[in-house]
Amino acid sequence: MSTLIRGGTVVTGSSDTVIEDGAVVIREGRIAGVLDRWNADKEFDGDVIDASGCVVMPGLINIHSHGVTPGPLFPSAAPALSTESWMGNLDRHLLSGTTTVLSLCGFASMDDVREADRRHAVHVRGATTHLPQCLQAAAMADGRGLTVKSRELTVERMLEDGAVAIGELGGGQTLGGGGQDLVYIPAAVHQASGILITIDQARRIKEAVLGRFIDVGAFNLNALTEAAKEAGLAEALTASQLAKIVTDSVMPSFVPAIEGIREGVQAAAKFGMPAIVHSASATAGILRELMLQLDGSGATVIAAHANHPSHTPEEAYQLAALGRKIGWPAEASVFDLLHRKRTVTTREHWDLLLREPDLISVIGTDYGHDGDHDELISAVQDIAAHGYRSLAGAVAMASSVAADLIPGVAPGSGRLEAGRVADVVVARADDFRDVRFVLVDGVCVVRDGQLAPEAHR
Ligand SMILES: [Zn+2]
Repeated sequence: MSTLIRGGTVVTGSSDTVIEDGAVVIREGRIAGVLDRWNADKEFDGDVIDASGCVVMPGLINIHSHGVTPGPLFPSAAPALSTESWMGNLDRHLLSGTTTVLSLCGFASMDDVREADRRHAVHVRGATTHLPQCLQAAAMADGRGLTVKSRELTVERMLEDGAVAIGELGGGQTLGGGGQDLVYIPAAVHQASGILITIDQARRIKEAVLGRFIDVGAFNLNALTEAAKEAGLAEALTASQLAKIVTDSVMPSFVPAIEGIREGVQAAAKFGMPAIVHSASATAGILRELMLQLDGSGATVIAAHANHPSHTPEEAYQLAALGRKIGWPAEASVFDLLHRKRTVTTREHWDLLLREPDLISVIGTDYGHDGDHDELISAVQDIAAHGYRSLAGAVAMASSVAADLIPGVAPGSGRLEAGRVADVVVARADDFRDVRFVLVDGVCVVRDGQLAPEAHR
């Protein structure tokens, strides 16, 4: 089967090449050629996609996704999503131009990952956190999704079976982060008082009890009394009851989660595989320690969501700058900071880190509210529109750079070049979120903005 995509602005993913009014020829699932022009009168023996007014780019590679496979969800090993939910998440990725996702939930088996990969057009890749301390942290934070099999697996067996990275090491749910604010603290408060509190109220209460860096020494009674009053809990719970609820929810998983980061990074160095670590205020200390320890070891350690809003913008900047000095690439997650703004309402960290030319290497989405994150392709457009990178450079951050950083994630794709896998996206130039066509392995799986039947198998 052959396809010609002509008339669009072709961005090859190579960080410097943009071809106005170029063309891409696809044959047998591969890119057959990238051309400077295709004469409109010339015949073509296959499908023709008119990409006028559009940008043509490599299928995007999202190295930070969650909820895209069966098996335990998140580094806290929450119960597996229904098939409908993880397939729905993959649909959203595909409809916005992402053709490869790396699942960073960490406790899924490679059979789980292969099932998702087989049933959906998106290429689904797996990472592993099957390590004793990570498992312990998950069991303490949640662990309801763990099975006998997931407890028996090891990082070594997962890597042999095709996992391409170690991660996500640490996670908001195990480290007293956003997952605690969103789910676990409100659930514990509700169980004790019958009162529902919001994510912001939970965060404020948590910070009154444990501070921003998760430390029992940071307890502040005045702040807790204020936060409890504001959340409507003053009558229902005493300050010490509330402090105990928060401490019991956050602390049991915190110590193993920190140790899990250490053992995961050591495993990555030992096996020569990339590690992906959760960067947040709660992990800043251990990350700084590991950066200094591993300086010069040659291990690839990627700091995930270096723009995490639990850091102050200045802290995020300093940590990323230290990482750059040591050679740790940093990933910036779009979360939902551009459009939806339900979990992250500020773009201050995003702007500060991306403004500097070489602080952030690669971009991903992370999960957002219930999987409703902003589109990776919208982040690409935002970065180019703000002039933080050229258009070619912005596209590279979600394609070739991702493929190069994690060699197993998308072998043979990530660039529009003759001989490469034909994963291609055609999106409206004025709004990248308006994705018109997506081809995966040369097969059209999104047509005129709609999922084609070929998207599911
Ligand atoms: Zn994370």
